[in-house]
Amino acid sequence: MGSIEVFAQSQYFFTTLLSLAVLFFAGIYATAGQDKLFAPLWFLFIGLVVDFGAAAAAYGSVSVYAEGKSIEGYVFLELLLSLSAMIFLALSAIRFMVNGVLLNWVVAGLWILGAMAASLFIFIIPNGDVVNQMRQIFPLAGFACLAAGLLSQSSKEFKSGSMLAALATSVIVTVLVCKYCGFFIEKINSFWYIPALLYVLLALSVMMMKVDALNQRLGKSAKEIDKYNKKIEEIIRLSPFPIIISRLGDDRLILANNNAVKLLGINPRELERYRLRDFFADSDNRQLLTERLESEREVQDFEVLVKTPLSDTPFWLLASVNIIDYNYDVALYSAFQDITSRKNREALLKNQAIRDPLTSLYNRRYFEDEVNKRILEAKAQDLPYTILMLDADHFKNVNDTYGHKIGDKVLIELATTAERALRDNDIVARYGGEEFVVFLPGIHAEQGKIVADRLRDSISKQVVYSDAKEPVTFTVSIGVSSSDVSDNIDTLIKTADEALYKAKQNGRNRVEVFTEEDLKAFTASSQVEHKDESQNHHPVFDKENSEEISLLDRVEAVQISNEDTQIEEPSNQKESK
Ligand code: GH3
Ligand code: MG
Ligand code: MG
Repeated sequence: MGSIEVFAQSQYFFTTLLSLAVLFFAGIYATAGQDKLFAPLWFLFIGLVVDFGAAAAAYGSVSVYAEGKSIEGYVFLELLLSLSAMIFLALSAIRFMVNGVLLNWVVAGLWILGAMAASLFIFIIPNGDVVNQMRQIFPLAGFACLAAGLLSQSSKEFKSGSMLAALATSVIVTVLVCKYCGFFIEKINSFWYIPALLYVLLALSVMMMKVDALNQRLGKSAKEIDKYNKKIEEIIRLSPFPIIISRLGDDRLILANNNAVKLLGINPRELERYRLRDFFADSDNRQLLTERLESEREVQDFEVLVKTPLSDTPFWLLASVNIIDYNYDVALYSAFQDITSRKNREALLKNQAIRDPLTSLYNRRYFEDEVNKRILEAKAQDLPYTILMLDADHFKNVNDTYGHKIGDKVLIELATTAERALRDNDIVARYGGEEFVVFLPGIHAEQGKIVADRLRDSISKQVVYSDAKEPVTFTVSIGVSSSDVSDNIDTLIKTADEALYKAKQNGRNRVEVFTEEDLKAFTASSQVEHKDESQNHHPVFDKENSEEISLLDRVEAVQISNEDTQIEEPSNQKESK
């Protein structure tokens, strides 16, 4: 540019420098983290600075001319600088257009040719007209290149920024063309602020380019997220396992593969209707999973008890749950494996270990383990409890008369009646043979006796039918002992058995309670072995059928205060041999 007249004004000098500074800072802001903007913007900036230098050199040559000295050096410097400015602007334009190495060589060639021309005209064939033309053509060419480069970029990455910059440079090119052709020279020369305005506009464009670049990046990552989501969906769709994705925020399902849809009875078109929590049959189970996810973010092989809209009975799934980013949400990725059969098998095995196969009641071992725990709990809370010992009356007769099969039927009926008659937290077990034992928490012996009588009564009303369709009725005798007597399970069973023995003695189909007085007598005398051998049909000590029935192995364990009492081999055992 470098109009000497305009440059002479100090406003021009000051505002142009200021606007260049603004452009400089805009350039720093825009190129931070934006590699693509770095080269074109800094080439542009250097071009403009060098152009400013050319204007300064032109000013220098005018002052030197006024002093009557030779101006060749200044003119050469001015031409060299405006040639360099052109090259830098062209380089910037090239970077805006394409990042081509070949075009850099073209620009370098232009530079050499231009330099040769400038030297030729100034030092070898001095020609003022040509020099004047060159000092106008160089900037014109530079800005024209830049305008073209920016215009081509305006349809690419940095749309709005380069559009504005292209517009501003086009205006400059128009002004330069007018100047070159000699149109409105006076007017143009009076607009000393044009370069400053251009630089400010460029600074603005540069910032807009940065915004364009950021938007571009955002769009790109949105596309990448889309691609990533599609990939996840594909993997999930093809998985042989049921998989669901649910939003962490509102717990709603956002994705479920076919296997999950089938397994959980989901309507795939209304995924959002379901919440993950709706599938948990047990809230504690869900709570545990949530806690583990909070601390570990990933939970493997977690057993979940699941309920679905289709199934009435909950079933077990093995779940692996991860927290993932999905579709701009934080989500839970849950993959499942149906372990119902494994769980059933486990339950069966556990049941086999703790249940009696004939009556499905708990077995003696389970009863003792469980009651031991319950006694500790009850003691801690100072609560009473009662034990019942049941024995079928004249059961041999049932077997002898109707056969063993009907005997079994009676035992099953007995068990069902007992379970039905008792509360949920009472424990009924088959102690062995035709003996049953019951733990009644929370009640004393008196209430225990009432319960026992009611139970005895309802058992006496049951009927099973023989093969010949004859009605078979049966009764039980019950012995009661309680926490008033002892807190030791062996003693409790032993004393309940004592009471049962009394019930048998007193005519069967009746209930007898072992009292604290009985305990004194019981501990004072040598109980078991001193029983009259002639009537020693002792319910529990009759080992005829099963060794499980025997309490002998624990007689020694019973805390008996009388040290003198030597426990001899019980007579009833002798009998049973
Ligand atoms: P009491 O009133 O004195 O108890 O008379 P009882 O006949 O019940 O006497 P005892 O205890 O001697 O007889 C128990 C019988 O129970 C003997 C045994 O064959 C029978 N029994 C034990 N376990 C089973 C079983 O699992 N099924 C059948 N059918 N009978 C059993
Ligand atoms: Mg019996
Ligand atoms: Mg018996």
